[in-house]
Amino acid sequence: MSASQPASPASLAQMLLDWYDRHRRRLPWRAAPGVRPAPYRVWLSEIMLQQTTVPVVAGYFRRFLERWPTLESLAGAELDDVLHAWQGLGYYARARNLHACARLVLAEHGGRFPAEENALRDLPGIGRYTAAAIAAIAFDRPATVVDGNVERVIARLRAVDTPLPQAKNALYALAAEITPEARAGDYAQALMDLGASVCTPRNPGCLACPWQNACEGRAQGIAESLPRRAPKRERPLRHGVSFWLMRSDGAVLLRRRPDEGLLGGMIELPTTPWRDEPWDLAEASAHAPQPLPWQALPEPVRHGFTHFEIELLVAAAETEEGAADGDDGAIWCPPSRFSEHALPTLTRKLVRYAARHRPGLVRK
Ligand code: SF4
Repeated sequence: MSASQPASPASLAQMLLDWYDRHRRRLPWRAAPGVRPAPYRVWLSEIMLQQTTVPVVAGYFRRFLERWPTLESLAGAELDDVLHAWQGLGYYARARNLHACARLVLAEHGGRFPAEENALRDLPGIGRYTAAAIAAIAFDRPATVVDGNVERVIARLRAVDTPLPQAKNALYALAAEITPEARAGDYAQALMDLGASVCTPRNPGCLACPWQNACEGRAQGIAESLPRRAPKRERPLRHGVSFWLMRSDGAVLLRRRPDEGLLGGMIELPTTPWRDEPWDLAEASAHAPQPLPWQALPEPVRHGFTHFEIELLVAAAETEEGAADGDDGAIWCPPSRFSEHALPTLTRKLVRYAARHRPGLVRK
């Protein structure tokens, strides 16, 4: 293995840019070499890429652009249509923020994204990483772009063995030292490419890496073990009961969640509040949409969110009548038309479970 040699930040940046000029990935949202991409495309791709992989995002990006080719068209879209098109990308707060951001940029910035990181961070759904990525890629500002991939590369390059998340600020400062003034957008994308295709979590391809002779983690033989991480705490488990209420015409009661909070604005089965203790059915019935003899299906449905897991028992009943659509956010819909609504993954799991365990619950 080569011994590490001191390399100045400027030469590290140049090595990476030279490598990028030969090995850059072709991505649907990337402009041709030397061409500045449209901020709308950069922003859209970066929001989609938060928590989602490149192959998954590619199809969504193409479909969104076909449907809403400009910021103005997206700002003019109905929120429901945007949520529906987002289905499958997860984390629906991102879709709501996307829509709110398009409207705000149109209303307060004349339809043009600001170029400064701080102004970008004031927009809905844009945090430190995304603001830096847009400032660098769309406006060539020397912004330091640090996500999990970049943290890994920098921790290895500089042999930082402080565990994450404590090491976050130090890694950001080390990354900022290398960020060049010129070609900042290409440099940011080069660093993303290096993390995605060479300095991978397992078996980093050091022999193909432009920084191989400068990498302290490699010289010390500890690269693959970096970055270190503090042990994970277990996610807490929460509990609730969802109500499957079928009307005599086969329609099932759905409702819209409040706009704020988890799964905001999405369509769900009526549900008790979620809490730490399990519910018994009699107690849960106080939150049911109608006082009926509710029957619990055998197993709860489990679903994981980022910070907790939820177990939902499904209680089923039939009714002759239901309140009209719109009362209390109620939507009566036959299961064959559920796909017309923006159902989050959790609701789709509950529907599949109800259909599997009680076929009679889903009338065609
Ligand atoms: Fe990552 Fe290896 Fe390159 Fe170091 S030499 S930055 S460990 S790929």
